[in-house]
Formats: sequence, structure tokens, C-alpha cells
Amino acid sequence: MAAAANDRLRVLVVGAGAAGLTLTQLLRRQGLHPVLVEKAAPDAAAGYMLALIPLADPVFDALDVMDAYLRHSTPMRRYRIRGRHGQPLREYPMGRLLSEAGHYRGISRGALMDVLASPGGTVTHHTTVTAVEQTPTTARVTLDTRGRSYAGAFDLVASNGLHSSTRRLALAPTGVSTHDTGWSGWVGWADPDGEPDLGWEIWGTGMYIATYPVRDRVGVIVCGPRDATRHGPCPFVAHACAGLDRVDALLERALRQLVHGDQTYFWPLTDCRAARWTDGRVVLVGDAAAGFLPTAGIGACMAMESAGVLAAHLAGAARDEVPRRLRGYERVQRPRVEAAQTNSRDLAKLMFRGGRAYSLARDLAVRRVPLEAAIRPIRRLLRTRPSVTPGVHRGDRTPD
Ligand SMILES: Cc1cc2nc3c(=O)[nH]c(=O)nc-3n(C[C@H](O)[C@H](O)[C@H](O)COP(=O)(O)OP(=O)(O)OC[C@H]3O[C@@H](n4cnc5c(N)ncnc54)[C@H](O)[C@@H]3O)c2cc1C
Repeated sequence: MAAAANDRLRVLVVGAGAAGLTLTQLLRRQGLHPVLVEKAAPDAAAGYMLALIPLADPVFDALDVMDAYLRHSTPMRRYRIRGRHGQPLREYPMGRLLSEAGHYRGISRGALMDVLASPGGTVTHHTTVTAVEQTPTTARVTLDTRGRSYAGAFDLVASNGLHSSTRRLALAPTGVSTHDTGWSGWVGWADPDGEPDLGWEIWGTGMYIATYPVRDRVGVIVCGPRDATRHGPCPFVAHACAGLDRVDALLERALRQLVHGDQTYFWPLTDCRAARWTDGRVVLVGDAAAGFLPTAGIGACMAMESAGVLAAHLAGAARDEVPRRLRGYERVQRPRVEAAQTNSRDLAKLMFRGGRAYSLARDLAVRRVPLEAAIRPIRRLLRTRPSVTPGVHRGDRTPD
């Protein structure tokens, strides 16, 4: 906070997630000293698996961490959809299809955080925000670190994460709508399965099982209706397997390791959408603004991209310009992110459903969907990516 005091902008970033770390590091490259606080401990678990499409690449380039990203991740060349009995339906050469736009790779959340943190800089752990009060010129914030309170004055407070408390403190809670799929999942890890470039998903009757490779293991997720999943992974996995033609040794091992893993956790498949992303000097980014279901596999990419767009909008800004610059960021990024979020909700309706007749019809439809149509939403996002380079804000030409 002492280093930030004389900065052009005094910035507080709440949450060292995909968006928070990206924003902090990009602002550090602008010569600022953002204060980055994180409620979790520094040695928090590796989290879960992420498949990153090339939307994330411009951020890795802008931070000069592309080599570290390639070292910590693994190429996901193939993506396979399996039908209601586990039978293969379609396999997409995703790596090749996306190669003209960049990389498609698997990485654990912990490794992604390490990559984004690799240029250095402090994260203050065990710390959260307990109050935000805005005046026309400043945001006065109270921080809590292990029971001790600190007060600080900032020109900008940025918050990320699905359960952002800053959103609750500074933007009206009624302005947040949630979308509940009615399903939940168990997420964990298993040993590598001998196909390190393949991610696959079983779209079953009232269940969904998937594995995605990261550098040294595979992430496993098993989902179903909340009533059926909430009693623990073990009974639901048994139920899900009963619907499959066969459970081969690798799938059996992955599910056993998920059930017994000490990092396995329950994930209610809900998301959220904030009615506004900015209020004065407070801004939401990543899942705090629009949270993502896992169905489209793009939440982290959108979070990093949004953080990049926000950092670009803040380049050269004076303190009194912050609210206007934040509105410019929201104007550019919000329609794009919400369209992607709607797409992931639509996919959830397709994937998270029961009923034998429906599953049969879906199996037939998946076989017939042309490749082009299947990846059209991703291609559209890639074709229209906004710049994360300061001074180039495509689509933001209207003055406030
Ligand atoms: C199981 C799973 C699989 C996923 N798969 C993919 C995928 O394949 N591809 C993809 O692109 N996306 C995927 N996502 C989505 C992606 O992880 C999120 O969209 C992305 O991480 C959002 O970034 P964020 O920075 O907003 O939040 P996060 O990365 O969740 O970070 C938020 C951070 O803020 C901290 N925090 C929260 N509240 C406070 C507070 N009050 N004070 C201080 N710190 C706080 C949290 O501890 C956390 O570290 C997946 C998500 C899950 C759960």
C-alpha cells in the first residue's frame, strides 16, 4: 500500500484468481503497484483442470509468460463425445481446428496461477475486504488480515471470483441473478490414462462423466441431478456406471481415485450474472461479473481476456478518469461475455438432462452435427477477440 500511494492510480485487486492475477500483472507492467489480496492460503490445492482455448494466448504474450504456459500445460489435440452408454459418438481434432488461432491446452488451476504469477510480485494471502465506502474521489476500503483490520484509500477496486464479497459490499445484491442447472458435480484428480492429448465426455442419461488431461494427471468430473449427487461421489458413481455398457480398467481407476481423492470436492452447477459491472470506482471482472458453467470450457479464458481489456482501458488514466474508463470496459466486454455465458447455459440444457428417449435422440443428433457448426461459437469468439494492448479498444469508440 505504501508503494501504491504515489502511483498514478492506487489499485486494489480482490482475489488472486485467473482474472485478478492477470489484471494485477498487466497493471504492474504499466508501472503501477496494485495491492493484490487473496482470502486463501498460499499453499491452496491445485484446484481443478482447465482446458484453455486460444483466447488466453494474447494475455500470456502480453505478460511474456508464453514459455512458462507451454511448460506447465499439455496440448489437448483431441476431444471426444461419448453417448448414453459410454460409446464413442464423435471425436474432434480440436488442436488442429484451433491451431490457426493459437493453442488449445490442458492445465491445472494451480499451475495456471503459477504461470500468471511467474513475473513476480506480492500476493497478500489470508486477506479479504470487509467494507467499501465510495466518495466522489476515492474508494475507502477496510481489509482484514487474520483478524487485523487495515484501512486504505484507492482509486480503483477490482474484484473477481463467483462469490465475490466486494460485489455484495459495493454493488446492490439484487443486481445479481443466478442460473441453477439443478445439477451438481464431484471434481477431482486421477493418474494419467495413457492418452495425454485426449479430453472426453460421456453425455449419459441423467449423468455426465468427463476427464481432461493436464501435465501430469487427468482431471475427473462426475455430474448428475443434485438430489442424486449430494450424498457423496461413491453412490452416484455406482449409479452412473450402471448405465454404461462397460467400464474399462482406466475409467474404473479414474472413478475410484475421484471417489477416494483427498482433493475431491462438490460443485453445485450454478452460475451468476451481475446486472452492472461497475459502480463508481468499483469494477467486477471474471466470474464476479459473469460466472461460467463448465459446459463451454471458457470461463477462465473469458476472465483473463476481460482482465486484459480492463487493463488496456486503464492505461494512462488519471485518477479522476477511472469511473469513465471502467464504464468503457463494461461497454466493450459485457455483451461479449454474456453471449458466451448464454451459450454455456444452452449447452448445459443439452448436456445436463435425463430421460432415455431424450438421450437416444441426443446421441443421434450429436453424430449428425457438422464439425463446423459444433465449433462455430468458439471460432466466433476467436475471430472477434478484443485487444488487450493499451490504446486499442475495438468497439469502444463512443465517448461516455
Ligand atoms: C471444475 C471447473 C472446471 C472448469 N473448467 C474450465 C475450463 O476447462 N476452461 C475454462 O476456461 N474455464 C473453466 N472453468 C471456469 C474458470 O475456472 C473460471 O471461470 C475462472 O477461474 C474465473 O476466474 P476468476 O478470476 O473470476 O475467479 P477464480 O479463478 O475462481 O478466482 C477467484 C479468487 O478470488 C478469491 N476470493 C474470493 N472471494 C474473496 C474475498 N472476499 N477476498 C479475497 N479473495 C477472495 C478466491 O479464493 C480465488 O482465489 C472451470 C471451473 C471449474 C470450477
